[in-house]
Amino acid sequence: MKTVIAKINLDALEHNMQKIKSKVADAQVIAVLKANAYGHGDIACSKIMDKYVSGYAVARLEEAIHLREHGCKKRILMLGGYFKAEDLKVIEELDIDFTVHNFNEIAEIKNYKATKKLNAWFQVNIGMQRLGFNENDYEEAFSQLNALDNIHKPLGMISHLSCADSETTALYNEKQIAMFQKMKQINPNGFFSLANSASILYFPLNNYDFVRSGIIQYGISPSNENTGEDLGFEPVMTLSTSIIEIRELAKGDVVGYGASWVCEKPTKIAILAIGYADGYPRAMPNGSPVLINGRIVHTVGHVCMDMMFVDIGLDAVDKIGDEAILWGKGNPVEKIASAVNTIAYELVTRPTSRVRYQYIYHNKEFEI
Ligand SMILES: *Cc1c(COP(=O)(O)O)cnc(C)c1O
Repeated sequence: MKTVIAKINLDALEHNMQKIKSKVADAQVIAVLKANAYGHGDIACSKIMDKYVSGYAVARLEEAIHLREHGCKKRILMLGGYFKAEDLKVIEELDIDFTVHNFNEIAEIKNYKATKKLNAWFQVNIGMQRLGFNENDYEEAFSQLNALDNIHKPLGMISHLSCADSETTALYNEKQIAMFQKMKQINPNGFFSLANSASILYFPLNNYDFVRSGIIQYGISPSNENTGEDLGFEPVMTLSTSIIEIRELAKGDVVGYGASWVCEKPTKIAILAIGYADGYPRAMPNGSPVLINGRIVHTVGHVCMDMMFVDIGLDAVDKIGDEAILWGKGNPVEKIASAVNTIAYELVTRPTSRVRYQYIYHNKEFEI
């Protein structure tokens, strides 16, 4: 019997990378590997991606260092920039790209005594209101940054769309894209990056020099309105556990903490060895889908820390030790996410240190 396993199908990952590469034609791919490759394992994923990409993107310096320590030689871009001026030393040593999004950073870079040139990207805000220079200060910021002699030129320029995953916000997307097109005029010799997964899928004219593919690499749709499989991608992660107990219930029996589910007719329930401490949300409502022996059954009662309940029906022939799939192939994570009012991004980044990772590539299984 096994407890929780995240099976990572690297053949599916490879299929998705090939598909992205052919979709974006001449644009180069920066594979987004932040948050341990969205919970899929950054090192194993990067080894597969390496053939298809010109670089990687991360959110934290530690993530960039982790990739370098495991032999990554390609461009690594810190999407949110650096956090402390002291970080510049490591950034220089390890040759890490970073975004620049305020005047204070420009001053810090100016004061930094670099022995080789730094790889700074100019970040602009086109409507998300997160990071980047605005319409009214980007010209001044660009001329200050571009005047520094300790950074590489021409400058890369980067921004982010906030609503590219939904057609209902087409107007807002057009406004953001128009803003980027206007702002990029300031950097005629530079290179540009705007597209995330949703933009690659729905706004292919905005791929520019570098796309930043994230969620679709892992076979997941950027929106809960459809699934990665609907879009021709293959889910990479399958989160599973096993049945550790089966119990018959009579009408009126109540299940779990808080007695939140009452049995209305005789049935059998299975107890699964996974709980919120493994990364399955406690907030999952009664009736959420779980795949057991090829059919969908539904959760009952509150998810516990280490276990949860599913109603398998009175006639079930499932046995202790059988596998239960919480999300993955046959039980799309987008549907689980929408049942609990979140997005698939949050679910796949949740598996905790208790979860065992098993990779599979060309029919060989391995762990790292
Ligand atoms: C996370 C992130 C991406 C990737 O987004 P997906 O929707 O997963 O493709 C791209 N760019 C930035 C700035 C990000 O933070």
